[in-house]
Amino acid sequence: MNIDSKFRGRILHEIAGAVIDHVDELTELDSAIGDGDHGHNMRRGMEALIAESAAISEKSPGEALKSAGMQLVMKVGGASGPLYGTLLMGMGKTMPDEPDRDDLTACFGLAVEAVKARGKSDVGQKTMLDVLVPVLDALRAGATANEIVNVAADARDATIPMQAERGRASFLGERSVGHVDPGARSSELMIAAFVAALNESGEAAI
Ligand code: ADP
Ligand code: MG
Repeated sequence: MNIDSKFRGRILHEIAGAVIDHVDELTELDSAIGDGDHGHNMRRGMEALIAESAAISEKSPGEALKSAGMQLVMKVGGASGPLYGTLLMGMGKTMPDEPDRDDLTACFGLAVEAVKARGKSDVGQKTMLDVLVPVLDALRAGATANEIVNVAADARDATIPMQAERGRASFLGERSVGHVDPGARSSELMIAAFVAALNESGEAAI
């Protein structure tokens, strides 16, 4: 997979644009079961990625992921900033310069483990992990790009009946049931945008 610097920039813009287009929705979701700042937090992070995109995309894939992750830690804040930062930095750690699908899967697997450790969390607790883990499983099972996008959307919806056991939403107890988890939605948006960007380039299609 040849992910050159121009293409790295495009992936970055596609992900940031998808999140920015859905800021109001993320705000609403977080207003229902949190403190309403997830949209705003994510917009700050995505705007920082766009502002730094030239510098970030010049770096190797691994280093680019690490610096994008640092930006998210610094700019997003809340619970999600350090967790998304951990995810990207975790992916960057072992990402080769010309990753193939197996490399992507392996790096994503390590990164998801790092998020679990950082958040002291796991699947079933109504968090971003309820999208990240099913997507990882789908990647491991050889799912196509379209299947991965569908898995992410289904996984987002599967957070609706869950009761939150981590983050602010957990303070609501049973009242957290019946809503999409905001971090599950932002994860789904970023994964769908990433897959779309990869698929636009026949060479890098997964
Ligand atoms: P905060 O909760 O500090 O206001 P955000 O609103 O930006 O931060 O992010 C909330 C999202 O972060 C939740 O919807 C959830 O997906 C995710 N989250 C919170 N705590 C954890 C955790 N311990 N592990 C994994 N994800 C978490
Ligand atoms: Mg919040």
